[in-house]
This record gives sequence, structure tokens and C-alpha cells, in this order.
Amino acid sequence: MKIPVDMILTKGILLTLSPGSDPMADAAVAISRGRIVAIGNKAQVENRFEGKITIDAQGCVIMPGLVNAHNHAAMTCYRGMADDLPLMDWLSNYIFPAESKSDGEQVYWSTLLACAEMIRSGTTTFCDMYLFTDLVAKAAKEAGLRALVGEVLYDFPSPNYGSPDKGLEYTETLINRWRRDPLISVAVEPHALYTCSPSLLGQCRELAERYEVPLIIHLAESRSELEEISKRYGKTPVKHMESLGLLSSSLIACHCVWLNEAEMDLLAQRGVKVVHNPESNMKLASGIAPVPELLGRGVPVGLGTDGCASNNNLDLFQEMDTAAKLHKVHRLDPTIMPAEVVLHMATLGGAKVLGMDKEIGSLEVGKKADVIILDLRRPHLQPIYNLISHLVYSATGADVRDVIIDGQLIMQNQKLLTLNEEEILAKMGEIRGRILQRVSH
Ligand SMILES: [Zn+2]
Repeated sequence: MKIPVDMILTKGILLTLSPGSDPMADAAVAISRGRIVAIGNKAQVENRFEGKITIDAQGCVIMPGLVNAHNHAAMTCYRGMADDLPLMDWLSNYIFPAESKSDGEQVYWSTLLACAEMIRSGTTTFCDMYLFTDLVAKAAKEAGLRALVGEVLYDFPSPNYGSPDKGLEYTETLINRWRRDPLISVAVEPHALYTCSPSLLGQCRELAERYEVPLIIHLAESRSELEEISKRYGKTPVKHMESLGLLSSSLIACHCVWLNEAEMDLLAQRGVKVVHNPESNMKLASGIAPVPELLGRGVPVGLGTDGCASNNNLDLFQEMDTAAKLHKVHRLDPTIMPAEVVLHMATLGGAKVLGMDKEIGSLEVGKKADVIILDLRRPHLQPIYNLISHLVYSATGADVRDVIIDGQLIMQNQKLLTLNEEEILAKMGEIRGRILQRVSH
């Protein structure tokens, strides 16, 4: 008698990405109740298990879903609205004014659009910072995506929660509301050092410690931030964080472009996790984060797209390609940031940054079944000498064929099963019209 399971993925090339593993041809994965129950040779798995659904992955790679470790999903509604500007000009004169008049409906539909884009390009987990976060969580949950979300907190009034003190209350409510959800978890998310007072940051730290949730912030992103924080507090951004007691293993610091050697040592000592967003840093001309140096010190580094308005897409396959090449040309060293290192950042490394590496990031028996199947039978992916090289340098998100998250089939043969894509696209047309009216008044 075979053991019944929910799903078997079979006949593919298996890339578990668990440490020390090699690709395995003609492999299968058995999934039941949201978790991986067996991995191995096709015959071995199929002799023991009977799947309610069997997915034929011949000519495809079966691999872990990607982890987008820094995103502002709902910013898809501003895609291409204000390009070719420096960070502070972009934020102060376009994004913050547009966002100050945003509403929950806009955030909800724009997040659904982002979810559709992420699923289509093989992302199964994302970490988000935005407004109206309860609706971000609702959208992610409906899409079937795994997400770590948080309400952006700063010193000025928010179109969602109103005065700054209400932001902490809102975050606390969110933490309690989503506490036991299998897909959604919540972090405390002050925006940045130049938008948050030391007192707000202290309260954020206290809240994150009380509920043992991550604290997420944009840190040392641009040279103007370095200058502004040095002028205001007489310290660099990292030193300012240290003086406020914010550097710890529960901190996820996004960007970390402007760091000196001593600050990198300090981040490593304190167990801080970092997210690298190369395309956003390139587009806003923020600089190049010292990622090889951080990795060399043992700092966990994940990969993120950042919001869509500074990228302008959420395709982590393209982001991997950029990450690998950016550091090579910067150092004039083609051996820096090899494909394996970059793929690790977008999978198990990213999962570690989000504190989820025990559950996701690699395909292992007992872990959550967050799996993607990518079709290799394409002209730009043949012939194959090195699979990981293809995933980083040749593939794009459009090559992803099937997506499974928490054991649920979310996309099959490039058809989204959880979302009504036509309805989302039609809504986005309406939202575009409303945004254009708002920014012109
Ligand atoms: Zn960001």
C-alpha cells in the first residue's frame, strides 16, 4: 500500500539548495499538509507515495521558491511614474506627496498586482514595508503568498493611522491579529533614521522586543542620509543606531550602502541582517553596498527588489543577474559574487535574514513546501552545463511554470489559480487615473 500524499512533483531536475547538495536528475518531491515529506529518486518516491495530484516536471528544474527580502509591494501603482531622480528628490517631491493621499483600496489592489507579478516570477515569500498593512496582509493571504509585513512608521501623519503615536498602536494590533497565521507574520518597521526621531525609534525597539518580532529599517542607503544624520546627531547612521541600542540580531537593515570597515565589523558582532537591493540602488544612484565584505564577515545578506517605483519590476531572477554583475564590474573582478552565492542570497540566505530558514529557503524533508518549477526547454536556457549559472545569468521570472506555496498549488502552467488577473489589471487602470488626478492637484 502506498502512502497517500497531496502532491507529487516528478521527473524534474531537483535543486534542493540545502548545504552541500548537488542537482539530481529524474527526481521527485512528495508534499503533504503543506510540508515536504519525501525527496529523492523518482522511482523511490513514487514506489512509496501516491499523490492526489501529480505534476510532471520533465525538462524543468524543481527548486525552492525565491525570497524577496525587501519590498514595498503596493508601490506597483507608481511603476514608471517618476523615474530618473535622486532618492531625496524622488521621495520628497513625488512618492511621499502621492502616498499622503493614498487609500486602502489603492494599497489592496496594488498589492494584489505585486503578488501576481511575484508569483509569476517565482517569488514565494516577500518582506514588505508599507501603509494600510492589514490590507497588504489580506492581499498576500488571498494570493497564497508567504509574507513578513509591517506598517511604515515615521514622525509625520500617516494617511492610514493618523498621528505618529497611533502607528505603534496599529502595529501592535496587527501583530496580535496575524499572530497565528500560517502565511503572514508582522514586524515593527520604522522607515529610516532621517524620518524617525530617536524617541520613536526607542518605542519601536521596545515593541519589537516585547513581541519578539523583527525590527526593519532602511539604513545607510544614500550619501545624503549619511550627511544628514551626521549633521543632526554627530554620528554616522550605523553609530546612531548603536547609540540607540538598535543593532541586534532582530534587526533587518535594508540597503547598508554607506558603511565603513568598523561599521561592518559592528554589524557582524551584533548579528544584524542585511538586505541588498542592487537595482534600486543603481536606479536611484545610491551607491554599491559592500556585499562581499559583509558576507566575508558572516553577516547574513538577503536579496530584495525594493519597491517597484525604484526598480521597476519585482523579478528576483533579474535581480540576481544584476547583483552578480554589479559587484564584478565595480571590483573589476569576475570571481566576486559567483552565481551560487547570489542564488543563496535569493533563497536560503534570504530566509535566514527573515528568520525563516528553519522552515523555508531549501527543499528538505519536514520543511514547508514552497517550491517552484522552472521550464528549461527554452532557447535561452540550452544547452545546460551548469544549472545554477543558467538560473542567475540566463533565466528570467517568465520561465517559471508552476508555483507551490505552503503545499498549495498557486500557479499551474503559468495560470494563476488564486487571483483574478483580469480584474486586477482593470482596477489598476482606474487607480492610475486617480493617482494622476491627485498628483496634479
Ligand atoms: Zn525600501
